[in-house]
Amino acid sequence: METLLGHDRTISSALFEEAKKIFPGGVNSPVRAFKSVLGPPIFIKKGDGCHIWDEDDHQYIDFCCSWGPLILGHNNAHIRESIYAAVAEGTSFGAPTRLEIELGRLIVDNHRYIEKLRFVSSGTEAVMSALRLARGATGKSKVIKFEGCYHGHVDSLLVKAGSGLVTFGESTSAGIPEAFAKETIVLPLNDREKLEETLEQEGHNIACIIVEPIPANNGLLLQDPSFLECLRIKAYKHNVLLIFDEVISGFRVGFEGAAGYYGIKPDILTFGKIIGGGMPVGAYGASAELMGHIAPDGPVYQAGTLSGNPVAMAAGYAALKQLLAPGFYETLNAKTAGFVKALQDFADAKGYPVSFPSVGSIFWVAFARERIIAAEQIDPASMNHFKIMHLELLKRGIYMGPSGYEVGFVSSAHIDADLAQAVEAFKEALDIVFS
Ligand code: PMP
Repeated sequence: METLLGHDRTISSALFEEAKKIFPGGVNSPVRAFKSVLGPPIFIKKGDGCHIWDEDDHQYIDFCCSWGPLILGHNNAHIRESIYAAVAEGTSFGAPTRLEIELGRLIVDNHRYIEKLRFVSSGTEAVMSALRLARGATGKSKVIKFEGCYHGHVDSLLVKAGSGLVTFGESTSAGIPEAFAKETIVLPLNDREKLEETLEQEGHNIACIIVEPIPANNGLLLQDPSFLECLRIKAYKHNVLLIFDEVISGFRVGFEGAAGYYGIKPDILTFGKIIGGGMPVGAYGASAELMGHIAPDGPVYQAGTLSGNPVAMAAGYAALKQLLAPGFYETLNAKTAGFVKALQDFADAKGYPVSFPSVGSIFWVAFARERIIAAEQIDPASMNHFKIMHLELLKRGIYMGPSGYEVGFVSSAHIDADLAQAVEAFKEALDIVFS
């Protein structure tokens, strides 16, 4: 038996060794390799409700929820039955189907800022297509993004701030031509002056500003709504399109995502995760006029063999339909607020330097007391605390995504007893972290 500080991963470890022979780092997406936490990754066997089971037969309460898509928990009966029904009719046609209209109509009818949309198969694809639309519609090429926001592995967005006043991007991945990174201007979040200065100087070359309105990929960097309003106003002023990347926040903080939550109208919205009910779906949407630039109506080319896949559409429809039930978000968000408050009360009572920022059903464990609104405020050394907490939580049957920069998600399948159990586990884990 291979135990790691008291957590048995015998079968997971064996599977990981096998996986490493086949996949780079043994995984099909880097963070899964557990590089930022202790021990080899645990391999998941199944999920049901808010629980998952690993190959070594541990049961966990899951706060990763597949990195956000599973707002209804695992193995949701309605989604499962809809998938079965769709599969029975065939899995892919590469031709229009009734199912894509049903999901599309549900979204357009219930989202005030979307008149037309296009389905793709991932969040990255949605963002990539949205950038092309912005460039095609404006005839301009540069993009503003913000430090601390992640938008998928799109070439021109895998960049960090370079040096200089107007900071053109430097790529954060090998394999990205400098010329692509140079098309991106990286600005700090919440810095209105820099934004205005950049738009004054470069606005004539800038196609769009892209932002995670609820930045949730580098901790949870909750912005003042006035900053998002400022983006809106300045984008209008300089004839630049505003893209809200709602791959995480979309259908999460409310059916209309962050745009609806803050009441701010972006020009283009991108989606992924929840929209597919656990199947690979992404989408981008905008006004009918803007979407008129997309092929075959317009000159901006974008296509996909599996786009609008019927099985995925059925899953997405079954998921989103449940989110529209009266009180769905109120209940989920209140439940999350109670969970987070219990954690914060405990940390405060003990005087631990940890806080739990949250919005809707998204929360983050920040090993700091002050409000964190920008990536550079996060102390990399605090990630050691996360590592210890992560292991102690696993040992107590709680699964968090394997990085301290990642947020946690509560689903409607987490009932009060699960959350109460999780609070106790967090208390014990934090006591060990700070012992
Ligand atoms: N945008 C945001 C805001 C995301 O959080 C992510 C994924 N975490 C993406 C884009 C990329 O989505 P995908 O992983 O589905 O390609």
